[in-house]
Amino acid sequence: MSVPAPSPVDTRKYLLERVDEAAVVQLYADGFAELPLREKILIYHLYQAALAGRDIYYDQRYASNLEMRDVLEEILTHSEGIDPAALAEIHRYTKLFWINTGPYNNLTARKFVLKTTPQAFAAAAAKAAVDGARFPLRAGETLEGLLARLERCFFDVEFDPIVTSKTPGPGKDILQASANNLYEGVTTADLEGFDERYALNSRLVKRGGVVVEEVYRAGGRYDTYIREIVGHLNNAVPYATDAMAHALRALIRFYETGEAVDRTAYDIAWVQDRDSPVDTINGFVEVYMDARGHKGAWEALVYYVNRHKTEGIRKLAAAAQWFEDRMPWDELYKKQGVRGVSANAIDVVVETGDSGPVTPVGINLPNDQTIREQYGSKSVSLSNATEAYDKSTSPEFRREFAWSVEEAERAEKWSSFASELTTNMHEVIGHGSGRIADRLQGNPQGVLKEQYSALEESRADLVALYFVPDRKLVELGLVEEGDQDEVVLAEYEGYARNALVQLRRVREGTQIEEDHMRNRQMIAQWLIANPRAIEIRIRDGKTYYVVVDVKAFREGVGRLLAAVQRIKSEGDYEAAKALFETYGVHFDPKLRDEVVERVDRLRMPSYTGFVQPRLEAVRDAQRDIVDVLISYPLDLTAQMLEYSGRM
Ligand SMILES: [Zn+2]
Repeated sequence: MSVPAPSPVDTRKYLLERVDEAAVVQLYADGFAELPLREKILIYHLYQAALAGRDIYYDQRYASNLEMRDVLEEILTHSEGIDPAALAEIHRYTKLFWINTGPYNNLTARKFVLKTTPQAFAAAAAKAAVDGARFPLRAGETLEGLLARLERCFFDVEFDPIVTSKTPGPGKDILQASANNLYEGVTTADLEGFDERYALNSRLVKRGGVVVEEVYRAGGRYDTYIREIVGHLNNAVPYATDAMAHALRALIRFYETGEAVDRTAYDIAWVQDRDSPVDTINGFVEVYMDARGHKGAWEALVYYVNRHKTEGIRKLAAAAQWFEDRMPWDELYKKQGVRGVSANAIDVVVETGDSGPVTPVGINLPNDQTIREQYGSKSVSLSNATEAYDKSTSPEFRREFAWSVEEAERAEKWSSFASELTTNMHEVIGHGSGRIADRLQGNPQGVLKEQYSALEESRADLVALYFVPDRKLVELGLVEEGDQDEVVLAEYEGYARNALVQLRRVREGTQIEEDHMRNRQMIAQWLIANPRAIEIRIRDGKTYYVVVDVKAFREGVGRLLAAVQRIKSEGDYEAAKALFETYGVHFDPKLRDEVVERVDRLRMPSYTGFVQPRLEAVRDAQRDIVDVLISYPLDLTAQMLEYSGRM
């Protein structure tokens, strides 16, 4: 049985707005509506658990974050009569504040500030107060007092300037130089000889000259949030599979005790649950925010396996031997009994804390190395996040590097579909394929040394490019027969364009170092030089890589793939080195400068904040959930205010 592919033509709104260098993009979770009710209810409770912990991360990131957010949101929700210019600036700043979870840029770790005057801000707050705004005043505090207390937080870029400072300069302490709230009044020297029992899940505070651990657990720091999370997790348990229920109970226990032994038990239970169609990550996970690299930043994700996409991966894996038998290389290097590599494609329904609104596209957990070695890890790719990134890429960007209007339109229509298809082929039938000469004892890396990675990435890319025009893909239901030729052309054109556009990332020097980039450069330059499948054209001083012959492109890919496989199978270091030295490493800096200038002129966003799907439970007269509806807010402000309980 084969499930029909969803229409690849998608005219929905992805890019919602630009806020300075950030893009705001809607995330869709298309498969949710078709899930069985039991899974929808499970996801609903996990979604509530994800939202319940959101403010933990705000507090961890900066001690004044929650107060600052209250002030901003109260002004925005009581905005009548506020000076429009001041209000517009407060709104701009608040959007960046939401996307970055506070006043620090998530890429640079540096502070950004309100670009109005403290007087104009105070006037806006006073107006809002008249309109019914309730500000987070301390006992006996006036609104003026509150604003004076927070003034440097909002306006002074030199005050608490960096959220995480791992190299603050000579004589400075990494904990003192970092503005996050994982430590209070503690220096690295204070921790020498300190017995830290809760390395991952505590805040360290110096009180009366003594360092104290405030443990993140029920009854400890973040008690209120944690109890609420636990309540929702308990509601989720009856709807989970046995393996997942076991993991959820272990997580609840860890939230209740905070003990490392319970965290270990949870990690093991989570990693051993490999087949559940729904999964969640909820807790103190990544340690990048801590300059010491110990404290876990709170995050939550809820997701389900994307059946259609995972099915595509499994179909390719099942047909791996068919592809192996038809590889364009010597029979000597063909494998018997080849099995495709399998992984899960997932769609996220909600991401909060450290993983939202700015989201990762792939996750591999747990981080605990001893558990990974003993029990393995789980790897997921966030399909809907990747898709939303791609769909929100501005059409101008594609048009800028496309030779013709037709090429730009093809890219618009097919690039997301084609890149997902070829990425799966790269992973599933690419990396797992081919036989190595026995004398290399399964270790071609040893002889190919620094050339190995780029060569292996080239091999996997070439397998995908070689088979994307094959009718076998139609037979497997991975592409429609009538669409295939256009998909192939779009993929080849995209590949050629990418080799040009990627030069924007190498702003210094005249050599490519990164392996994936070397691989793309090598393949494109080889196809330009040898079968002349790609032509370099110049128009109005701008360079284009134009695919001029699809047949020559595919035949060239086959020839190059045969050569690359031979090099790998025989461990021919000299040939690998010559291939990359000739085609993959060096580039013309004038061309790079041209590309950089064209990209900069288009003001590409540096990062993206996602608006998450919204879930709503439908209940019967007994308050039992009878359905869960999903919708897409298309509005960052509305979603953030709803999360804070202000809408
Ligand atoms: Zn790869």
